[in-house]
Amino acid sequence: DDVIDQIAAGEVVERPASVVKELVENALDAGATRIAVATAGGGKTLVRVSDDGGGIPPDELTLAIRRHCTSKLGTDILAIRSLGFRGEALPSIGSVARLTLRSRWEKGDGAEEVLVENGRCEGPRPAALGRGTVVEVRDLFHSVPARLKFLKGERAESAAVTDVVRRIALGHPEVRFELSGTDRSNLVLEPGDERKRIADVLGAEFIDNALPIDAEREGVRLTGFASIPTYGRGNALQQYVFVNGRPVRDKMLLSALRAAYSDVMARDRHPVAVLHVGIDPADVDVNVHPAKADVRFRDPGLVRGLVVGAIRQALGTSGL
Ligand code: ADP
Ligand code: MG
Repeated sequence: DDVIDQIAAGEVVERPASVVKELVENALDAGATRIAVATAGGGKTLVRVSDDGGGIPPDELTLAIRRHCTSKLGTDILAIRSLGFRGEALPSIGSVARLTLRSRWEKGDGAEEVLVENGRCEGPRPAALGRGTVVEVRDLFHSVPARLKFLKGERAESAAVTDVVRRIALGHPEVRFELSGTDRSNLVLEPGDERKRIADVLGAEFIDNALPIDAEREGVRLTGFASIPTYGRGNALQQYVFVNGRPVRDKMLLSALRAAYSDVMARDRHPVAVLHVGIDPADVDVNVHPAKADVRFRDPGLVRGLVVGAIRQALGTSGL
């Protein structure tokens, strides 16, 4: 069972940044308005995500780690494939790290915690916590040397964690985010409107010079901000694309962004942009892979045309 859990975990958990992504998304799902992420060793020795959300009911607290304790799965490969990704994040993390879940359910009397370590589960037992949930993940992949080997150095893992937090934060300007770890990665993002959040993440210089984008085609909406062609410090990591509020890294969307600038920007430079695609959920699948955030549009050509057209129009009417 351990082997199956660890294979399943590999699908959701690749590196500390994917743990952070899953935990922060859970906090947002719980209605958190303040989320703090603390890491040590680039997240390899510690990831701790604390939130002020609604908390976890006691029976779900046990459920979240139960699969690891009482799994009845055989070694059938089909069983592995049948594991849904949703509802798998916490059990998956628990199978490859020391996991502590501490939570105070808003409708309950006090906080409780559960622990998973090397297949040993403890709790639920009473714990001290004023509000919300704290999830601690220690020593990721300590029991899976083959996966541990693929993690990069502390700096690179730390940079990936920072990138995940910045991306999610851009999609949720109303939520306060705090990231602490190494000095280089410390970050506090106070809540505000989207302009303020973009200024805090990408710099006031960007937002003050960016072209506002707002266009629609056949029910698909594109909003956001794109850099003027002369905005200097572009790099490919500063392209933030959201589909229905979820951060994605989609080749087609990024290539459409690049294509929009093909006449006005040298090939070795990169536009900076924050783009939101709003589309009928029936016309898109953002769950192609839980960790990779690829997207499948029912009509990719429509979306591509919208992105290229809207940005070209903004560039054209900006008098540049
Ligand atoms: P999923 O998010 O797909 O439901 P997870 O394994 O990530 O699966 O989480 C399992 C469940 O634990 C969630 O559905 C939610 O009920 C609960 N949960 C996890 N993290 C939190 C949190 N920070 N606050 C409140 N509930 C949480
Ligand atoms: Mg989740």
